Amino acid sequence: MKDVYQIAVVHGDGIGPEVCAAAVEVVKAALGPGCPLRFTEYPAGAEHFLKTGQSFPQPTFEACRAADAILHGAGGLPGVVYPDGTEAGLDFTLRLRFELDLYANIRPIRLFEGVTSPLAGVKAGDIDYVILRENSEGLYAARGAGALLRGEVAVDTLVQTRAGIERIVRKAFELARQSSGAPRDGVRRVTCCDKANVLRSYAFFRSVFDEVAKDYPDIATEHALIDAMAMHLVLKPGHFNVIVSENMFGDILSDLAAATVGGMGMAPSAEVGDANGFFQAAHGSAPDIAGKGIANPYGTILSAAAMLDWLGRGHGDERLPRAAEQIRRVTEACLANGLLSADLKGKSSTAEITGNVCDRLAA
Ligand code: ATP
Ligand code: MG
Repeated sequence: MKDVYQIAVVHGDGIGPEVCAAAVEVVKAALGPGCPLRFTEYPAGAEHFLKTGQSFPQPTFEACRAADAILHGAGGLPGVVYPDGTEAGLDFTLRLRFELDLYANIRPIRLFEGVTSPLAGVKAGDIDYVILRENSEGLYAARGAGALLRGEVAVDTLVQTRAGIERIVRKAFELARQSSGAPRDGVRRVTCCDKANVLRSYAFFRSVFDEVAKDYPDIATEHALIDAMAMHLVLKPGHFNVIVSENMFGDILSDLAAATVGGMGMAPSAEVGDANGFFQAAHGSAPDIAGKGIANPYGTILSAAAMLDWLGRGHGDERLPRAAEQIRRVTEACLANGLLSADLKGKSSTAEITGNVCDRLAA
């Protein structure tokens, strides 16, 4: 337990500053006047790149590495790219992932009461699972290392290591053991999602998964190919508990899954390694709605709650998970009471939602 936890806050681009400020306010309200978290802002992202030519200044990186946790809005803007076409504003997220070895990207997918799913006949509680995305290798680790041959042929390499697969798969089984929301049939299970029938890197992922699974006989296991998985998440989302997947597949599935529970604004995310934790909603900077005051802050608020859980577990500080639980309870109540942003077909502004959440926390 610490007297003070240093939180590095990087607002980022587009709606990033709006949703990030909302989450900071909510955390402060949940912890009250004696809040042990100190929030310090640092610049990074596409806007910063346009202003200074740097997307991720070294002092920001050092501050993030030294902080007890990192809270982020969202980064990147379309068109702000390096000569090779990759987005400059994504440096922040990608460098943090790879350089701080944030290998586990935990993305809870839950349908809350008050939120309408585009899936027919699905109601609150029917969808409650976690996508665990491998975050340190796989296809995205090729960023910067891919080759463009004579301007004619582009190559990126998908790398999977035994150590990398093992640690993410172990995390998946641990999450299944901890998970409160077991699937509808009551069976705790880990689903390994891959493309083992076509690519050897995925076949390797599957074989290591099967080896590690032997250490967790209390958890059911199954395999699903990524293409079939896209279908299953639409047709039988209630079946799943924890889904573990390679980096890119996890990225793609997360957006699909988020859509089934109300959209990108409802999808929190935690990226953790053995030393550092990085928390931001799964959505991007949504430049189409930036500055309008209508961004959905729930995903970032729920990500901040995950930050409190993670900090509390790591430091044996019970105050923090208690505050996280309150944030989730209040979020649930606000959604159920129809406090919905435009993306959820509601009329509430970011400020209105944030203010209401804070008021309820203070009550
Ligand atoms: P990235 O490449 O960073 O993942 P993206 O291009 O996939 O970004 P997002 O920024 O995630 O796109 O936005 C996709 C769509 O979802 C946009 O139309 C955006 O308006 C909407 N959206 C995303 N986040 C939110 C939010 N918090 N509130 C409301 N709408 C959102
Ligand atoms: Mg996206």
